[in-house]
Amino acid sequence: MTDSSDIRSNQPVIVEACAEFVQRDMLEIKGSFPGLLRDAPMSSTAVVNGLSQQLIYQLQLIMPDAFVSFDELNVHLGDAAFPYVQTQAKQALQRAIQDRGQRMHVNSAYRTIAQQMLLYNDRFNNSNPVAPPGTSNHQTGLAIDIEDALGWEPYLMQYGWNPLPGDPPHFDYQGGGTIDLRSTSILAFQRLWNQNNPNAKISEDGGFGPQTEGALNRSPAPGFPKAPWDNKPRTLRLAMPRMEGSDVLKLQEALKKAGIVVGADGEFGPATDKAVKEFQQKKGLNPDGIVGPKTRELLMH
Ligand SMILES: [Zn+2]
Repeated sequence: MTDSSDIRSNQPVIVEACAEFVQRDMLEIKGSFPGLLRDAPMSSTAVVNGLSQQLIYQLQLIMPDAFVSFDELNVHLGDAAFPYVQTQAKQALQRAIQDRGQRMHVNSAYRTIAQQMLLYNDRFNNSNPVAPPGTSNHQTGLAIDIEDALGWEPYLMQYGWNPLPGDPPHFDYQGGGTIDLRSTSILAFQRLWNQNNPNAKISEDGGFGPQTEGALNRSPAPGFPKAPWDNKPRTLRLAMPRMEGSDVLKLQEALKKAGIVVGADGEFGPATDKAVKEFQQKKGLNPDGIVGPKTRELLMH
């Protein structure tokens, strides 16, 4: 049985309704809602940041070169703006930002299907149609929502980033050399769900149907107990959105054990960054605040 009969389309979405989402995502919300996605308040998509980070990491395990982070560019990121786009799209973005010589405020780039689900659940409160999870260009790493869209438009269009009529903050990258990641974004969720629900498995078909929709709504907003980084640790550092999860909690507990004062809340904020640097200094490592293999090994043994 496949789960993809109702919605599975490579057609571009005409309306993204991003203008309305951006209003909410500009609220300062940090830390995930402690419950299931379906019960989470529709205030900002940051309330599913924990689950979103697991989905992004799971997607990267399936397809390591799927997209790249652009957070080192001259950008300001919102609390729910995961700074991932495909390689070609990033190069184009970089050129546009260099040409204008200004910082770009990004309120959304890669949007996980957990974030899209929240928006979709709330679609009747929106004046514009909301793309079902897995059909938005934000799920393929080829879309951004930004501030000062009119000011950026000529710079972006020069490099293949085009505005979406009727949705002012939204730009799609149409410069070519890209792939469609939307079904992989859904597959990442299906795998993660199955790893955590061996007795209630769903089809891993990359399609978004009623079965996947139901499972997504019953998923914990802070992320699943079995995280995709359990077997292959992710690099932890101070980032936007704030990294959160079981691995951050373990890091903080290890820092405490090493005699460094830090709160153990499972979120990598400025205090954790400071604590990591202090630990690295103590051990004669480069105090860059980045928890890669070396720092991890010294901390976790
Ligand atoms: Zn958008």
